Amino acid sequence: MADFYIDGKWAEAREGGKREIRCPADGSLVATVDEGTRADTEAAIAAARKAFDAGHWSATPAAERGDLLLKVAGLLDRDAEAFAKAESLDIGKRLVESRYDMADIAACLRYFGKLAANDAGRVVDTGNPDAFSRIVHEPVGVCGLISPWNYPLLQTIWKVAPALAAGNTFVLKPSELTPHTSIMLMKLLEEAGLPAGVGNLVLGAGPQAGAPLSEHPDVDLVSFTGGLATGKVIAATAAATVKKVALELGGKNPNVVFADADFETAVDYALTAIFLHSGQVCSAGARLIVQEEWHDRFVDELVRRAELIRLGGPFDEHAETGPLISAAHLAKIERYVEAALAEGAVLRTGGKRPDDAALAKGHYYLPTILDHVKQGSSAVVDESFGPVLTVETFTDEDDAVRIANDTHYGLAGAVFTNDASRAQRVANRLRHGTVWINDFHPYLPQAEWGGFKQSGFGRELGPTGLAEYTEVKHVYQNLKPGPQYWFDGEPAGR
Ligand code: NAD
Repeated sequence: MADFYIDGKWAEAREGGKREIRCPADGSLVATVDEGTRADTEAAIAAARKAFDAGHWSATPAAERGDLLLKVAGLLDRDAEAFAKAESLDIGKRLVESRYDMADIAACLRYFGKLAANDAGRVVDTGNPDAFSRIVHEPVGVCGLISPWNYPLLQTIWKVAPALAAGNTFVLKPSELTPHTSIMLMKLLEEAGLPAGVGNLVLGAGPQAGAPLSEHPDVDLVSFTGGLATGKVIAATAAATVKKVALELGGKNPNVVFADADFETAVDYALTAIFLHSGQVCSAGARLIVQEEWHDRFVDELVRRAELIRLGGPFDEHAETGPLISAAHLAKIERYVEAALAEGAVLRTGGKRPDDAALAKGHYYLPTILDHVKQGSSAVVDESFGPVLTVETFTDEDDAVRIANDTHYGLAGAVFTNDASRAQRVANRLRHGTVWINDFHPYLPQAEWGGFKQSGFGRELGPTGLAEYTEVKHVYQNLKPGPQYWFDGEPAGR
């Protein structure tokens, strides 16, 4: 079948491995793809190393590298519907959401395509007319790019676009559960004229096909988006060869609602914050932290509306959200909710699979609200990555900030209030990489994305996102070289 792209050629798994991809919405077979092992990834690393060391891609003018990304954006627009369908089949999510994602992905390609040409470095004043100094950005080298399944191509493009813009070569290893749009992306890169070896793709499970990307000495940078536990393994492994490491990890994101907010708006966003894509969003607002006096009314309304949410597969036009990615993930959510209830949480709605026979073959779980969770309990501390909202209360602003920051994660958070200065004060005090005020989830290609604390390090998107894929070099030139006579046998005169 030849699903790997190595050194400009399509290749099969060396050891003949195959993996069935089944749609999470109904278990139907989407396709069987090649499943790689270490040998495949090592071959891809060798190709990326050879292409980088040849120096042609990094020497290509940045504007030309940017043009290639702009071309791919145009090709993606052309094929957007096919990409959206492929993504929806792999991950089970509604086609309409995948269509939005494809537009976001094209925007990201365009952002980095234009940014590449503007990254001119700067001149440093030496204070010496006979010397000249400049700061330049150079590519890091071979980048190992490892992406998750929840936004398969979006998370992938956040890495591929800046890596290419900055002149690197890469080996991409997407999630083994959602390979199709990565295969399709490589076809577009090939069509756009990406030179052989600059972009390489392998598929397969993390410990086999992924691990060499953090271990191999020929990889200079590893950029990983995924779970905290995997991120720790990757960071530790990459340390042995002192690779540059960028980690975009999980979140347990607070949504702080003050009783002076607009009630309908805050309820509406609280639902979107957690139930979009069935909570399989790194920045999902999984922790509702609502001011005490609003608690009963707010939670009653949330429960009422959560029970109206319609579940369904990618092509069900009435569906509002879809299934979980796999049976294993569904089982994990079930265990998470059971543990929360054992710790004293009160189940207000959900907490089980839907009864609807039409959904029986998919990995569906009802939108779930757990009230009165205890601070420090696993329900509040651990990321579920599913459609499970926990509810806590606070008394005043200080209390709200203290509770919202009481987590080892720090990816994103929100504050809802109609008091403009309170909004800014709370946003300033939240220890999270993105803070939304009276909103939830929007992000911009031109604004940095990344976590505080154990949500990761390094930034994606924005100018800093491009900088993650460059080394900074200071070039100093003596314009009037000549002997200095430091040691000329004379008594110390300097
Ligand atoms: P995961 O950690 O299980 O897997 C992510 C990727 O890592 C996959 O491609 C997997 O095959 C690979 N992998 C696993 N073990 C590996 C190893 N030892 N070496 C190399 N690669 C390995 O995560 P997931 O379940 O795919 O994704 C969900 C997680 O991703 C959640 O925690 C979510 O919060 C996080 N996420 C974070 C962001 C962000 O921007 N911070 C965005 C999306 C998802």
